[in-house]
Amino acid sequence: MYDLVIIGAGVMGLFTADFARRRGASVLLLDQWRLGDPRAASFSLTRSIRNDYLDPEYARLAFEARKLWLDFQRETGGSFLIECGCLNIAKANVTPALSETYAEQSYRVLESLHLKAQAFDHDALRARFPQFDADIGRLDIEAGFLHVPPITAALLTRLRTAAVRIEEKVEVQRIQRRQGLIAIDTSAGERRAERLVLTGGLGTNELLARIDECELQLPLRPDRPSESKYLIPPPAKRAMFTPDRLPVFAYLDVGIYGHPILDGKTPGVKIGYYNPPDVRTQVTSITGVQSFVAECMPELMDARVLDVEGADQCSYDLVADDNFILGAIPGLPGGAIGTGWRGTGYKFAPLVGRTLMELAFDTATVEDISRFAPERFEPSRAG
Ligand SMILES: Cc1cc2nc3c(=O)[nH]c(=O)nc-3n(C[C@H](O)[C@H](O)[C@H](O)COP(=O)(O)OP(=O)(O)OC[C@H]3O[C@@H](n4cnc5c(N)ncnc54)[C@H](O)[C@@H]3O)c2cc1C
Repeated sequence: MYDLVIIGAGVMGLFTADFARRRGASVLLLDQWRLGDPRAASFSLTRSIRNDYLDPEYARLAFEARKLWLDFQRETGGSFLIECGCLNIAKANVTPALSETYAEQSYRVLESLHLKAQAFDHDALRARFPQFDADIGRLDIEAGFLHVPPITAALLTRLRTAAVRIEEKVEVQRIQRRQGLIAIDTSAGERRAERLVLTGGLGTNELLARIDECELQLPLRPDRPSESKYLIPPPAKRAMFTPDRLPVFAYLDVGIYGHPILDGKTPGVKIGYYNPPDVRTQVTSITGVQSFVAECMPELMDARVLDVEGADQCSYDLVADDNFILGAIPGLPGGAIGTGWRGTGYKFAPLVGRTLMELAFDTATVEDISRFAPERFEPSRAG
């Protein structure tokens, strides 16, 4: 019998286990795959951490999560948070209404929240970041990217030291309340707990369908970037593209985002192409990584190009109303759920883990998560 069973051992499940461990709870983590399986979104090489959302609530939560990352880094003695900033760019011949671009709008949000940001016009941008050919640059200063493998390793070390049990390659067959507890029938036998957290990513609906008397199904949809490439510049140019000189960068109006080279850890500058659902899609000359490079990062034109493999080939968990799903499971007292991170969840993981732990053990959460409530999708509320 456990105080808490968590199903889904991606980064959200791992952080939930870590916060439960801190309060001395006995915890079991279950997963259908081996931990670190590249089909799970959480086990890539790098993930951006930034505050530059158009929605001020997401920007605020990202900044709160960043504080928890800094605590985690300090406590574990790691150095996985690369604070190179995140630069949003725009160019008038691509997106003529510069004041309406993601760069400009997210900058206004950062300023309204008094988060550190810096604005560059064409010449100032060229002087500070000669890697770019663009008309405006807006830098989210307390941002950058996370080097993922040491984070996974640090979490696992802490969980194993605290005797948190992790069962891999286990199939969950049925979940029900039995004799005042939550009983989970699995391919490895019955597991019982006072509380249950589901962090199954895109597998969450399958898990919900196995809960007796729970009718909830979530409008989750997989979607993935059209392209994810490493661009490997010639040795003479390499120093231009490491985090001391190049920030994380994005031109989200045209679906582009990128990470600098992490020396010895990643082969090149990572550039992805995807039009996220919360950003207006525009018809422009940029239709992929190569046309972006030609237009906005010409110094990379002679780079060698490789596909990014592994977790960067897996899918985002999009939600019909574009909001996270985080809260109690309707119909299962003692149950909580976190999913629907819309391709942007990793940076929030410690905050999500803390919140799921609070939902499982306490009545209140530090953050107001009412807008993320899963019951908004209950059949009785539909229409
Ligand atoms: C290409 C790509 C790029 C991204 N870039 C960024 C970024 O730059 N910055 C950022 O902040 N976020 C980014 N994200 C999002 C981030 O990676 C995810 O939001 C986050 O990793 C989700 O973690 P998770 O634990 O919810 O899900 P996952 O890591 O997918 O883990 C879910 C786990 O649940 C298990 N599971 C599912 N169903 C069952 C079942 N029935 N029984 C048992 N176990 C089950 C799975 O096996 C899996 O291990 C990106 C995502 C993708 C795909």
